[in-house]
Amino acid sequence: MNEKLISTLIENLSKRNIKGLYFKDLNETKKAVLQIIPQNLTVGIGNSRTLKDMNISQELNKRGNIVYDKTFAKSKEESKELKKKSLITDWYISGSNAISMDGHIVNIDHSGNRVAALTYGPEKVIIVIGTNKITKSLDEAIFRSRNHSAPLNAKRAGFNPPCIELGKCSDCKTKERVCYYLSIIEGQYIDDRMYVFIVNQELGF
Ligand code: SF4
Repeated sequence: MNEKLISTLIENLSKRNIKGLYFKDLNETKKAVLQIIPQNLTVGIGNSRTLKDMNISQELNKRGNIVYDKTFAKSKEESKELKKKSLITDWYISGSNAISMDGHIVNIDHSGNRVAALTYGPEKVIIVIGTNKITKSLDEAIFRSRNHSAPLNAKRAGFNPPCIELGKCSDCKTKERVCYYLSIIEGQYIDDRMYVFIVNQELGF
């Protein structure tokens, strides 16, 4: 993606008290994550293809951080515990479903743990996004989250809502629904709490 457009997004995030940083690839991004988070602090992880591609949970764990990542749970109970513990960590790392050029960060969640942690709890938050998540407007960011990210996330998580076949959201009310929470981050009240790491690559979905 054109670096000038990314600079505009970073400026627009800054007006919302969110620090945007540019990285040319995922490897550079991983180094920055490991550098910014001190080794003795706790880290919560929001489930994300991008974070899995970075192998960030294992890397943090290996060098001494206590990491709460629900994808390592061996039971539903353990997963619930890890999600709860993630809400009071020093740092929280997550991907995102979409971000508009004017800096709205949009996410759809199943149980809500990720949007909760991004909003309040962890002392600091890093959101890692590829350029495929950047949209022209807030409406497009919501559209992308509903019609693109949600069906693919449903499939990944083993659910079978109608959008998987339709290729778009039908606002289903089935038991297979994965979208119970739609969050729009408009900005950040606490200084230096929220970072968006923008990777100039297509990442996740
Ligand atoms: S509301 Fe239902 S149909 Fe729409 S994206 Fe979510 S799971 Fe799919």
